[in-house]
Amino acid sequence: MNYTDTRDGSVRVSAAAAIHDGIAPDGGLYVPCELPRLDEAFFTAAGDMTYPERAKAILRLFLTDYTEEEIAACAEGAYVGTFDDDIPAPLSDMSDGSVFLELWHGPTCAFKDMALQLLPHLLTRASQKVGGGRRTVILVATSGDTGKAALEGFRDVPGTSILVFYPEHGVSATQKLQMATQQGSNVHVCAIEGNFDDAQTGVKRLFTDPAVAARLAARNMAFSSANSINWGRLLPQIVYYVSAYCDLRKTKELPDGFNVVVPTGNFGNILAADYARRMGVPIARLICASNRNNVLTDFIRTGVYDRNRPFHTTISPSMDILISSNLERLLYHESGEDAARVKAWMAALSENGRYDVGEEMRRRITDRFWGGFADDARTKATIRSLFESTGYLCDTHTAVARTVWQDYRVQTGDARPAVIASTASPYKFAADVLDALAPGAAEGLTGPEAMQALSERTGTPVPAPLQGLSERPVRFTEVCAPSDMEAVVYRTLGV
Ligand SMILES: *Cc1c(COP(=O)(O)O)cnc(C)c1O
Repeated sequence: MNYTDTRDGSVRVSAAAAIHDGIAPDGGLYVPCELPRLDEAFFTAAGDMTYPERAKAILRLFLTDYTEEEIAACAEGAYVGTFDDDIPAPLSDMSDGSVFLELWHGPTCAFKDMALQLLPHLLTRASQKVGGGRRTVILVATSGDTGKAALEGFRDVPGTSILVFYPEHGVSATQKLQMATQQGSNVHVCAIEGNFDDAQTGVKRLFTDPAVAARLAARNMAFSSANSINWGRLLPQIVYYVSAYCDLRKTKELPDGFNVVVPTGNFGNILAADYARRMGVPIARLICASNRNNVLTDFIRTGVYDRNRPFHTTISPSMDILISSNLERLLYHESGEDAARVKAWMAALSENGRYDVGEEMRRRITDRFWGGFADDARTKATIRSLFESTGYLCDTHTAVARTVWQDYRVQTGDARPAVIASTASPYKFAADVLDALAPGAAEGLTGPEAMQALSERTGTPVPAPLQGLSERPVRFTEVCAPSDMEAVVYRTLGV
C-alpha cells in the first residue's frame, strides 16, 4: 500500500516513510492511495478476537512494508498490559439508543493513548526502515491530552527525543501537572504564551523550514510528528471503530447501520470513523460535536471554513481549536482526490483564514456529516442529568458530544443507535465535572483536591494514573513566546 500527499497527487511513499516524516515536504498530509474493504467474513472473524488481534488484522492491511512479526510486536507492545483489564476500548450501553465507546482506559486517561501507545512502536520501526539511523525528534503542539499521552508513549524510547509545547492558559490544572511532572530522560516540556493554534502553527513552521531541518541533520537528527496529522496516529484510531462495530453487532440488530458521535477538535478522531465507514463499517451519519469554537459546525452547514472569529477558552479545552488540520484529508477524499483544489483551499486558509468549498462539496459533506455545538452551560447540564438519571459520570468533552447527539435526534428524528466516542476520564477534568454536579463545590480546589472531592461525591474511584499527582516532583516550568520556539528546540537538543 502506498501513500500520497493531499497537496500533490504525484507523490508516492511507503507507510514507513509517511509515518517517519509525519507531514509531506509541501505541508500536505499523507493519505493512503486506496482503502482496503472489510467484509462480513472479516467482521465475523474479528468478533472473536482480542483487541490486539483486531489491531493486527487492520494494521497489516495498511502497513504492507512492515513484516508480520513487526506488526505483532507493535500491536502487543501497545495494547497488552497497558490498558485497564487489557480491554482498551469497551462499550458502555446507556440503554437509551446511545452507547459510549470508552477510549480513556490507558496510561494518561484520555483517548490519545489509543494511538500514542502504538505510534512509538510504528515510528521506531519506520526509522529503522527509512530514517538512515538518525535520532528521531518528536515535536508536539498540544491542547493538553496529546502532550501527556505522547510523553508517556515516547519516554525513554531509544533513538528518540520528545519536545512538547502547550498553551500556558489553555489546559486544565491536571493536564498541566501531568506534563510538568513527566518522567523520562529524553523528554522536554515548554508552555507558550499563546493559544493552541499558535503552538500548532509554530510547530508546523519548524517542521517545514529547510534551514531548521539542515541544522538538525548536521547533528544526525530529524523531526517527526506525533500530532494527529501523522498517519501513524490515525491508523490506530480506525481500529477502535472497527472494534466497536464488532462488539456492537453481537448485541444489537443494525438494519440501517449506526451513527457515530465524536467530540471534535483537530478532526482526527472523527476522520478515523469516516475511514472505517469507507472501509465497510456500516456507519450512517458522522455527528461532529464542537464547543463554542464551532468553526466546524459552520463549515458542515455552509461549506465555508472561516477561522476569523474569537477564540474561546472552554471547559473542553482539547477542542479549543480553530484550525482543524485533519479536515484537509476529508477534503482530499471528498473532492475526488483533487490535490490542486485542496492546495488552493489550504493556501486561502493560511492567507485569509478562510476558504469556501462550494455547493457541490458542501452537499457531499452534509450527506455524511452533521455538525452541532454545545456551550459550557449546556455541557454541564448534560453531565449532571446523565449522572442523576443513570449514575454514569462523563467528562466535559464527552458531554459536548452527548448534548449534540440529543440535538441531532430532536432535529432529525433519526433514532438509529449511536456510538458516542467518550474521549477522557471525568477525572481529567475533575473541577468542571464537579462544578456541573454541584455548582460552586470546586471553587478554590487544586486539581488533585477536585479529584478527591469528585470521588467522594460520586462514589467512583480516582483512576490510578491520576493518583498522587501532587506528590510527584515538578520538572518543567519554562514558558516562552511563540517566536522563541525555535530557540527552545535548539537549546533542548543542544544543536
Ligand atoms: C484530542 C481530544 C479531542 C479532539 O479530538 P480530535 O481528534 O482532535 O478531533 C476530544 N476530546 C478529548 C478528551 C481529547 O483529548
